[in-house]
Amino acid sequence: MLSEATFKGRLGRALGEMERLGLDCLLVFSRSNQLYLTGSNAGACTVVAKGGEVVQIVYLLEAERARLEMRLGEVFVVSGYEVEGQEGVFVGELHEAVRRVVEGLVERGAKVGLEAAVSHATYSKLAEALRGYSLVSADVVSKLRRVKGSEEVELIEGAVRVAEEALRRGLELCEEGVRECEVAAEVEREMRKRGCGVAFETIVASGPRSALPHGYSSLRELERGDLVVLDLGARWQHYCSDTTRTVVVGQPSREQRELLESVLEAQRSAIDAIEPGVKASEVDAVARRVLRGRGLARHFIHSLGHGVGLLVHEAPTLSPKSKDVLEPGMVFTVEPGVYIKGLGGVRIEDMVLVTERGAKLLTALEPIP
Ligand code: ZN
Ligand code: ZN
Repeated sequence: MLSEATFKGRLGRALGEMERLGLDCLLVFSRSNQLYLTGSNAGACTVVAKGGEVVQIVYLLEAERARLEMRLGEVFVVSGYEVEGQEGVFVGELHEAVRRVVEGLVERGAKVGLEAAVSHATYSKLAEALRGYSLVSADVVSKLRRVKGSEEVELIEGAVRVAEEALRRGLELCEEGVRECEVAAEVEREMRKRGCGVAFETIVASGPRSALPHGYSSLRELERGDLVVLDLGARWQHYCSDTTRTVVVGQPSREQRELLESVLEAQRSAIDAIEPGVKASEVDAVARRVLRGRGLARHFIHSLGHGVGLLVHEAPTLSPKSKDVLEPGMVFTVEPGVYIKGLGGVRIEDMVLVTERGAKLLTALEPIP
């Protein structure tokens, strides 16, 4: 469990960022950002004021969960209608509750930052409800989440370890006649029984289907000579992992072995290039250069990697157009892949932590099983 000091530190950094942006108040709608700030994702909106006050607005059905989970801040309960015998509940719509909370925290005319994660409809209602305030878009909490603290890294490592055990089991099952969905079910059971959730729906894509980077898990039975891509992640105390291995059913052909080795070389070269101060786009370019040398560049059709934390896809991004610069404490995947129609696909995905000196590989499982 994360310490009290961690939550205080997060709030302090959020307030610092708000001050830098000249914000008096911040409205946080993203569930993962609310979780990051308060310890609970039960809220519909978390309001942070420059004086350090934090109020999580929750619907009545989530009020008790918020009270149990929140490590910081107060709960403001809202309901769309009156419920007999329930006291201390604000009856109205969410935007009206937000206005009530904001009015209690800051003066009229104050500058209110709004994080991007709201629908157009919600935005329109909020803008109307907060007339008299200066409403501006702001990116505060997502920015803080890019760099992980040591407690977060420990939880991520916990998720990685469980996913690895599940992956080992999945790889054992990859035999002729077994269905993709059976492998996926077993892998997810392994994670579940260790107290984890699944960070995303497990991908087991075999044979020609392995050429689909997001090829879910179908009823297809594995055949001798198939390439099989297993991509899975565990969620441990809200923190995610994301790992991929590619295996061949039976003996790999020479061509398959070359594909596996090329992708591994691209991945290891990219990991070697990781260092604080290096551009994420440069790390992506290293992997692309290796694959170009093997005549495979045109089959690498996605980004090299993505940050992992409370969400399985978050900042930073490792892609040709990324503007991110690597910093110690960032955790992300390095996952080159090649996808050849008809023949199949290969992807090798590991998670790394950026340290002062380079990259620490968080996965222990051998890259080519
Ligand atoms: Zn993955
Ligand atoms: Zn990934």
